[in-house]
Amino acid sequence: MKKSTYFLLSFTVIFVFSLSAQAQNMKGKKVNHEFPELPYAYDALEKAIDSETMNIHYNKHFRGYYDKFLKAIEGSALEMLTLEEIFANVSRSNAAVRNNAGGFYNHAMFWTIMSPDGGGKPGPKLEAAINKSFGSFDKFKAEFEAAAASQFGSGWAWLSKDEQGNLFVSSTPNQDNPLMDDVAKRGYPILALDVWEHAYYLRYQNKRTSYIGNFWEVVNWPEVEKRFNR
Ligand code: MN
Repeated sequence: MKKSTYFLLSFTVIFVFSLSAQAQNMKGKKVNHEFPELPYAYDALEKAIDSETMNIHYNKHFRGYYDKFLKAIEGSALEMLTLEEIFANVSRSNAAVRNNAGGFYNHAMFWTIMSPDGGGKPGPKLEAAINKSFGSFDKFKAEFEAAAASQFGSGWAWLSKDEQGNLFVSSTPNQDNPLMDDVAKRGYPILALDVWEHAYYLRYQNKRTSYIGNFWEVVNWPEVEKRFNR
C-alpha cells in the first residue's frame, strides 16, 4: 500500500468513528442539569431584595425545585431532554415535572436578570424593540407592573419575544412560564419577576407593588438584551 493511501485510509477510519460516537452521544446522553451559583452576594440586591429573603429563596426554595426536578425525571426519557424541550411538551407531563422544571428554570433565569449594577434603561437595540411593541419604555413598565400586581396568588410576570420577534408582557400562575406548550401566549422569556409571596414577604409583607417598583433598580439590562438577541 502506498504511504498516502495508508494515511487517507486511517483518516477516514478515525473520521467515521468520531461521527458514530457523536451520533450516539446525541441519542443517549443524559442532560447534565447543574445547580448554578448565585452571581452576587445575598445582600448585593438590597435596593430591592433583602439578604435574608435572597438566602432563603436561593438555598431553600430554588434548591428544593432543583432537587425535586431531578427526582421527577429520574429514570425517564425526560433525562435526555433540555428544560426547553421538556417545556415544549409539558402538557403531557405530570404536575411534579411541570412545577419543578418550571421552578428550576424560572429561578435560574431570575437570578441572572438581576445585578447589583442594574437599573437604568435597556440598550438602544432593545429599547427600540420595546418602543415598537409598547409605544415607550414607560408604557412597557406600566404594563409589566400591572401584570405583576394583578397575578392572583403565586406566579410570575414576564417580558417575552414571540416568533416574529415582537415583545409582549404576560403573567403565569405557579411555576409556569411562556416556554410551556399550553400557556395562553408562548414566547422566549427575556425578563422575569417572581411574585410569589416567598420572594418579597419578609420585607414588604402585603405591599407587592413596592417590591415591583424597586425591582427596576436591579434589572440587569445587558443580560436581558443578551436573551433578546438569542
Ligand atoms: Mn421564587
